[in-house]
Amino acid sequence: MSKKVAIFDSSLRDGAQAEGISFSVEDKLRLLELLDGHGVGYIEAGNPGSNPKDLEFFARAKAIHLRHARLAAFGSTRRRDIQVEQDSNVHSLLLADTPVVVIFGKSWDFHVTDIIRTSLEENLAMIRETLAFFKARGKEVIYDAEHFFDGYKHNPEYAVRTLRAAVEGGAGTLVLCDTNGGTFPSEVGVIVTRMAELFDVPLGIHAHNDCGMAVANSVAAVEHGARHVQGTYIGFGERCGNANLLTIIANLGVKRDYECLPPDQYRNIVHVARHVAAISNVALNEREPFIGNSAFAHKGGMHIDGVNKAAHSFEHIDPERVGGQRRFLMSEVSGRRMILDKIWEVDPSVTKDDPVTDRIMKRLKEMEHDGYQFEGAESSFELIVRKQLGKYRSFFELEHFRIIGEQPAKGEYGSSAIIKIKVDGEDEITAAEGDGPVHALDSALRKALETFYPELANVHLTDYKVRVINGKDATASKVRVLLQSTDGEVIWTTVGVSTDIIEASWLALVDSIEYKLLKLEEAKRTQAAHAG
Ligand SMILES: [Zn+2]
Repeated sequence: MSKKVAIFDSSLRDGAQAEGISFSVEDKLRLLELLDGHGVGYIEAGNPGSNPKDLEFFARAKAIHLRHARLAAFGSTRRRDIQVEQDSNVHSLLLADTPVVVIFGKSWDFHVTDIIRTSLEENLAMIRETLAFFKARGKEVIYDAEHFFDGYKHNPEYAVRTLRAAVEGGAGTLVLCDTNGGTFPSEVGVIVTRMAELFDVPLGIHAHNDCGMAVANSVAAVEHGARHVQGTYIGFGERCGNANLLTIIANLGVKRDYECLPPDQYRNIVHVARHVAAISNVALNEREPFIGNSAFAHKGGMHIDGVNKAAHSFEHIDPERVGGQRRFLMSEVSGRRMILDKIWEVDPSVTKDDPVTDRIMKRLKEMEHDGYQFEGAESSFELIVRKQLGKYRSFFELEHFRIIGEQPAKGEYGSSAIIKIKVDGEDEITAAEGDGPVHALDSALRKALETFYPELANVHLTDYKVRVINGKDATASKVRVLLQSTDGEVIWTTVGVSTDIIEASWLALVDSIEYKLLKLEEAKRTQAAHAG
């Protein structure tokens, strides 16, 4: 049996029904090009008759030359008790002018009799005639058997008859849908196997994630003979979402030898996932298998030690195969090796048994106990290492600062700050305004320092995050402030912790500026050494 699996993406229709998702026509066109570039077999984009936005999409999509994907329109079987030619919804599907049409119909007898309220025979005719209508017009016809697994469990004989009607109508693929997402992989395996015995037409799977098993169900279907998988690229969809196609692709194409994408495209999986998330304006789940930021992140000391000795000791695949990146997280539990790597970046001559290594470990533990976290704040961590190694100097001293807030804010700024600092024995007092106390403080400090260090003029904050640390003692609850800064070229992140939000921000701010000045000084030293 061929190992080729057709990947069918429905992000633009089923995915767009997810809470919080809203695509413009431009977004849809960008997704179309992105997924086509990745090698997806089918891209389904809804019914042009359902709204003018979809009609505009199909009109503009026609101008795009697709390299891999076939574009599909999606609609239901004809309404009951009319001729298929008289059904306006059926006709509107033709407006999309796509090579592929997907028709969904009822497999579950209860839905036929109690929801759309017609006879079981009429439902079979609706399926057969609608498919034949499109087949006669030269379309590739895919049949989505809605509620197939539930229907089969209640009335297997009738469910099979609906598939037979679809085959008679000219279905090129029979897609078995777990519309309510309540089926188990073992059931999918059994039912797909039976259908594969009964039908020569290729089988597909369309799974929803209501039990967290959409990916498992899709993989089970393929392992039992299905060769067409429907879902959405990063898994969003109505309720708990559709089957996550990228997870399925990685499982089938990387861990098994199924062909889901062109061979050179598997290593773009993480990249494409982030791109889809960006266009869709959703945050990618950090813990999503293969594509999440934490998918290959190691924190436990023994794990890091193991991965350093042999990657497969704690990794099920080489992250590079899906374009992921192995990360070692900074933490007190990360163990000596991890800390040593950081120390060596500052001073390669320090040995493992050097007392300074112990001092750094101890300091790190104390700070983590106080609520510090250095994951994503590597610059503050480097400063701690430098302080212990004696490779640090202070660039300024704070005399004092004062922040004045104004409520309600009049004019552009609601806060102002006055700061007095000392550099090499010289005093400097400045004031600045900001739209909040931290902004005002940051501006005042930078202004004061620019007199001495003009390079700071192009440094600015790009992100400011505050997290309340849930301490055991509620009265002494602390906040952790993460600051991200940039000089336009490099980005660095620093952290500060205190029971006072201004103080925590100040600590992170000082780290940010000192880190930049240390790097500048270092760069100048290397330049001078090269010149000499
Ligand atoms: Zn669906």
